Amino acid sequence: MPISSGLNNDHIRVGIVLPEDQITTLSLAWDSELDVSGSIPGLGTLQKLDLSLKSGKIQIVAASNIFSVAELTLTCNDEVEALKTKSGIHLDPVIAGRGFHWHKQIAVDLPGELKITVENKALKVINTVAVEAYVACVATSEMGAEAPADLLAAQTIVARCWSLALAEAKHLAEGFDVCNDDCCQRYQGTSFLTDHSLQAAIDTKHEVLIYNDQVIDARYSKNCGGMVEAYETVWEGGPVPYLIPLWDAPNQRPGLAVDDPDDLWNYHDAYCSSKRFESVNLAGMLGKVDVSGSYYRWEQLLSKADLLQNLKKYTGHIWQSLEGIRIMERGASSRIKFLFLEGIDKAGQPTEQIVRSEYGIRQMFSDSFLYSSAFVIKNAATLKQDDQILLRGVGWGHGVGLCQMGALGMALTGIEYQAILNHYYPGTQLSKTTDNLAEI
Ligand SMILES: [Zn+2]
Ligand SMILES: [Zn+2]
Repeated sequence: MPISSGLNNDHIRVGIVLPEDQITTLSLAWDSELDVSGSIPGLGTLQKLDLSLKSGKIQIVAASNIFSVAELTLTCNDEVEALKTKSGIHLDPVIAGRGFHWHKQIAVDLPGELKITVENKALKVINTVAVEAYVACVATSEMGAEAPADLLAAQTIVARCWSLALAEAKHLAEGFDVCNDDCCQRYQGTSFLTDHSLQAAIDTKHEVLIYNDQVIDARYSKNCGGMVEAYETVWEGGPVPYLIPLWDAPNQRPGLAVDDPDDLWNYHDAYCSSKRFESVNLAGMLGKVDVSGSYYRWEQLLSKADLLQNLKKYTGHIWQSLEGIRIMERGASSRIKFLFLEGIDKAGQPTEQIVRSEYGIRQMFSDSFLYSSAFVIKNAATLKQDDQILLRGVGWGHGVGLCQMGALGMALTGIEYQAILNHYYPGTQLSKTTDNLAEI
């Protein structure tokens, strides 16, 4: 029985520069030994192009020549075995952290095909790249160079499954499969590719997890907080048979994390518990985004004024005060599924707002995105008069599927990637995609 997937292709289209980025000038460069082909005359002798948007077309300055075209395609090798750090076409600038206040411009190095077009008075770049090369680059973005090999292998297979399953398909209407940012999976080409993660991609080439002959929808997040969350707590349309609640620990125990939040707070058997990493160089293993800690347990003091501002932004009317927060339902890991915010509006009338999702709650409570919705409000009794909201929370991210910190904890105790994957995706099997995948 052939394996099927959502992508059904051995290449994936990644949106790199999007019209919403409003980028109107780009520079492309590559090494002389890189064999770049494309639609520019005399391209073979060039190593640099400067593009700008002029009268709805792409103006190209190449050596001393100026061309104007509606679209431009450049292609270079994207076989995973040919990748090296910073190999590919160097593209500058690209937005990282799109939609967040910390967004910044970076430069990336991209293997495969770059197609540059004009859309909504801005330049648009789509990178069509071999799935195997894409997952090598994605796994690098998620993990540091010193990460254990079994963690990298597990992470690479999960990234491959996520890409092939294409379950979220957020961007099909925009003409590509995934974007380059955390909205999908962080992809910065080969810019930060490490030998270690490249080797993991080559060693696990074509390996995927399947369920009923389908590549699984392999969700993952940074830190579950002790219990892996169920799919349907976070997204519509569940349940998914292999994305179920389970203790992220060597032994399962009766009950769920949500049954007793205080007991959960003191629970340290989990593979993702910060106690397991006390003598470990986390910065070297998790990559530069995670250097500050594991976020297994956290406390955060939020300004009530900021929450009232966010409420104004989302409800469209002024909130004078916050009177209370009613938590309505939690998932197995204690992540809040939805809650009500109660307050007084500008006219002095009671008002309330429902916040319907784990994602929505994290966005509403913090402009820099709350670590997770698995929190209790420590000053609930005095919230009405307090200026601040003190949250005590567990975990980082949605908590569904593979817990990256837990997978690190497992790998550090010598557990192999097959067993790590089996722990987080029960009932699935490891298999290899074949050439059939592209033809289904
Ligand atoms: Zn996206
Ligand atoms: Zn965990």
